[in-house]
Amino acid sequence: MIMREATPEERRRFYLEEWNKREVPDFILHTISMREFGFDLDGKGPNNRYNQFLTVDQLGDFLRIRAPYSAYASVALYERPSAREGWLKAELALDIDAKDLPLKSCGCPPGSVCERCLDEARQVAKQFAEVLASDLGLRKINFIYSGRGFHIRVNDESVMTLEGNERAQLVDYVTGGVIPSDFTMALGYSKVFRERLERTFSSLRMEDLLEVRGMKRSLAQRLIQEKERAMEMIRKGKLDELSGLEGMGPKTFRNLLEFLTKLNSGFTDGKVTIDTKRILRLPSSLHSGVSMKCMVVQDIDRFKLEEAVPKFLREAAG
Ligand SMILES: [Zn+2]
Repeated sequence: MIMREATPEERRRFYLEEWNKREVPDFILHTISMREFGFDLDGKGPNNRYNQFLTVDQLGDFLRIRAPYSAYASVALYERPSAREGWLKAELALDIDAKDLPLKSCGCPPGSVCERCLDEARQVAKQFAEVLASDLGLRKINFIYSGRGFHIRVNDESVMTLEGNERAQLVDYVTGGVIPSDFTMALGYSKVFRERLERTFSSLRMEDLLEVRGMKRSLAQRLIQEKERAMEMIRKGKLDELSGLEGMGPKTFRNLLEFLTKLNSGFTDGKVTIDTKRILRLPSSLHSGVSMKCMVVQDIDRFKLEEAVPKFLREAAG
């Protein structure tokens, strides 16, 4: 799969020939006049802010004329979006960026993505959304392919008026970002935490474990060799067995647990969720850094990256 920067000419072609207002999701379409739009016009950053469009056709005209490097819309709805004033409510958003995953099995260099880590980001997004739906009972959960990862955007009224600190707690819950007081409960946060811990543990390599304070090489080696067994202990909530391993001791165990919990939090950028005035890449627009379309994902399991490849890139590839 080719991922390269789009030229200004390709951007123009994309917006003239390919951009389609029907690919703007309903949740934006129906509230378009209440959102702040932001643009990166030349690839130097999204510093063209405070734009308001009353209709999607107005937005379309802007995109065709300016062919921006990137286009964004606020998660928030405002009374006066062109002044970013009169905040009414905001979607709950989670950003799972494949280039920033704390553990990747692919080994592609920092800042880049490949099909493998994009797939890992997809799995993480799916797991987060499952908790949002099952544990928190949320509906109207949308997946967006962002170009380098996935966004989860929740338009359920029950979360749209939450403040930043409440959103922060929600992120901790979904990611397994805090150590629970009880590991063994069959349901609720305890279970989510164990699932996240297990997932994080499964991707650990020897060199990761050696970063844990007090971790001896022999113990790290053993944990990697007997990973399956350790994962089973985590899954079943038998963390006392894990802490009882030879050479572990309560202190190292605590350090290990804190290390893993911190990694858990790193699977999404919490700052994005907490910021109720954030702008997020506009679904339907072009991510010019990678020449991929940012788009709504109807079925997260079946989504194929090829669907996001713009025409100009397909033609260039022959
Ligand atoms: Zn990768």
